[in-house]
Amino acid sequence: MRAPRPVARHRARGPFAVRGPIRDLRGPALAGVLTIAAAGIAAVTGSPPAPANTATATASVATPAPLRTHVNLRESVDSARAESAASRANVRAAAVPSVTPAQAPPPRPAPIVGSFLPVEGCDATVPTVEPPNGQLALDELCTIGDRHLLRADAAATYLAMNAAFAAEFGVPLAITDSYRDVGTQSRLYSQKPGLAARPGTSNHGWGVAVDLFGGVDSYGSAEHAWLTDHGSEYGWVNPEWALAGGSRPEPWHWEFDPSLLG
Ligand SMILES: [Zn+2]
Repeated sequence: MRAPRPVARHRARGPFAVRGPIRDLRGPALAGVLTIAAAGIAAVTGSPPAPANTATATASVATPAPLRTHVNLRESVDSARAESAASRANVRAAAVPSVTPAQAPPPRPAPIVGSFLPVEGCDATVPTVEPPNGQLALDELCTIGDRHLLRADAAATYLAMNAAFAAEFGVPLAITDSYRDVGTQSRLYSQKPGLAARPGTSNHGWGVAVDLFGGVDSYGSAEHAWLTDHGSEYGWVNPEWALAGGSRPEPWHWEFDPSLLG
């Protein structure tokens, strides 16, 4: 069953908000540009260039959140991240699904973090270039505990929602599934075609869906009712197709929809 098409909206804010023509430059690269610009102005006006004040100039640009060091992540995630930037293209090329999707994948939800804190110990960023479904790199994902991964913004909002849930029920959300790479989705689909979405079409492949149990997996439970009432405050919903009267009832399946936070 294919998930509904998420609304694609660009509303990057907070730590991910960068604006202006030099948005991709930071630190030494930005200082270099500023120095060159100052020298160019001096050549035109005949006055000596003012010394580039890197700190002031950098601070005047929308400042990204400071990079955090890895403290809580698994060692395997750390080491894989270190090499993932260089090899991402190769990894993705090698991970091409053996099952060809019959239909185009849904649009990837736009990145958003809003007022939510980044995941502690995770310096992953929301990908700026759209990755293929199920082929997110490890430096685009954050752990949400118990070896489960979500896209950086979905992870941040999920953990905030989880904290509120735990405050209400005394236990955290119980999770069985989160981000699925394309290999995992293909395997699931071949084993349980009636239960797993066709590879390339699942929101699990965008890193923006979780499967929950511990009460949430039953319509009408206190846990499911709480999440229905409060999940959207964090951008999370049990989508329409998964509701009790939907085309494929799945009370356990919850998705992050950034447009809900607008
Ligand atoms: Zn699911």
